[in-house]
Amino acid sequence: MDIQNQTVIPVENPINGKVLYEINDNPENVASYYKIADEVQQKIQAMSIKERIAEVDKINQYVLDHSDFILDCIIAETGKARTDAFAAEVFEVGDVIDVYKKLAPKLLKDKNIDMPVFLMGKKCKQYFEPLGTVLVITPWNFPFYQVIVPSLLSFLAGNATIAKPSEVTPLKPLWDHFFANSGFMKDAIQVVFGGKQVGAALIQQRPHKIHFTGSVKSGKIIGKLAAEQLIPVDLELGGKDASIVFDDINMERTVNGVMWGAFTNAGQNCTGIERLYVQETIYDKFVNELVNKTKKLRTSHIDRDTKSPEDCDMGTMTAPFQVAIVEEHIEDALAKGAKLLCGGITEKGSMHMLPTILENCNHTMKIASEETFGPTVAIMKFKTEAEAIALANDSIYGLGGSVWTKDLARGERVARAIKTGNFCINNHMINEANPYLPFGGTKDSGIGRFKGEEGILTFCNHKSVLIDKMSGIIEPHWYPFTNTKAQLLRNLMDSWFQKSRNYIKFAINGLKIDSIGTKEQIK
Ligand code: ADP
Repeated sequence: MDIQNQTVIPVENPINGKVLYEINDNPENVASYYKIADEVQQKIQAMSIKERIAEVDKINQYVLDHSDFILDCIIAETGKARTDAFAAEVFEVGDVIDVYKKLAPKLLKDKNIDMPVFLMGKKCKQYFEPLGTVLVITPWNFPFYQVIVPSLLSFLAGNATIAKPSEVTPLKPLWDHFFANSGFMKDAIQVVFGGKQVGAALIQQRPHKIHFTGSVKSGKIIGKLAAEQLIPVDLELGGKDASIVFDDINMERTVNGVMWGAFTNAGQNCTGIERLYVQETIYDKFVNELVNKTKKLRTSHIDRDTKSPEDCDMGTMTAPFQVAIVEEHIEDALAKGAKLLCGGITEKGSMHMLPTILENCNHTMKIASEETFGPTVAIMKFKTEAEAIALANDSIYGLGGSVWTKDLARGERVARAIKTGNFCINNHMINEANPYLPFGGTKDSGIGRFKGEEGILTFCNHKSVLIDKMSGIIEPHWYPFTNTKAQLLRNLMDSWFQKSRNYIKFAINGLKIDSIGTKEQIK
């Protein structure tokens, strides 16, 4: 299915290939969403944080009441394993809301700011105000979470939000149901369906901020479009996470952890393990155990429509174009000398892929250098810590990574040495389950941070305010500029900025300065 340049886009169930419904990539009339947003934003801005939290509580209640329906909708369009969908898209939304109910009042409060001594008598504050209308553009791998989380954070900050989900997984039935049943404030979040044309047209309307999650390729285009109009933009882009396994590990736990890190969500995570570096001293044993366990994973090849009592471990791929990339990477690796240990391409073009492990890999292979975004792991051997660090850093990406070792000092040393925005020691990707922690990338993995304190502050205008009481003092740096004033200011600087401060000289010059403005003012 080539969905580029189509105005009618079919939304397919990847498990059975059935078309569920169609959406239009019609860029006309996008201005109407902004008109609605402008109006509703005034209302949101006038609400107290408590009132906004009460609205977000409705999202929470909706998720609690309708979690099975949400999961059904997500699975129908993504083919995910139910547990993957539950953990990352349903449970996590509850957790984010729970945390931001505490964080939002704290972070959005006016902040008193310290003053330098030269501004004695004045006060400074920062206000955290809404930006206006925020445009959220999202990909297909976590179609519910990635829409609702930035949108509700933007709402808490007082903005109107327009969200454009991926055309691959728009979740239209879910959003229709959500807006009809959640009771969430009307139009505060508008979900607009469409493809790239709708996305581009929404950007042309000049939102006050763009929050984009997606591929590096689209991120660069969106970054350019935003720059042309000076729209602030957060770019959450792709990754090629490396995981480093030292020889002092708990073997059983590490094998299980690495296997989950590589294959959860069928590897369609920007922070999934795609490159695995294993120390040579345990290489054979570790790889053997990893392969043995991986072969036992239950995949979506079981017909999920028959309502098997157990969930599968790994669901289908979601997008046909991604299957083609994964296949290309596997073929490229095999052609360049990689050895297939399990999985591989069983049926070309099938959405039901197998977890695939390749060894003898190197960085000339796409599977070890480009984002694969599928259930593959490319294994490489290393001898020393320095070698492992150099290999992990040899990437255009800098999103996440992990190290496995009982030596926590070494773990932290490696964590500091790896040039990524996120990192785990003896785990993988699970930093993302802490909403208090910011998330974001370095290098080609993106710009900006999301969640943590930044998760709300990124959607605010940070207004810096100085409050001067109407004291009658005419400031010495106001007109006219005279030699006496200049000398006093110079004296003040000399008394204060020297290595040892001269408090007496500072006080004398300070007092003189306070009166000079009035004396030497323009009459
Ligand atoms: P993926 O979903 O594979 O990460 P993309 O990065 O292409 O893929 O898409 C992520 C989101 O960005 C989707 O909602 C898509 O419609 C949107 N998008 C892609 N290209 C553009 C563009 N040029 N302008 C606006 N939105 C775009």
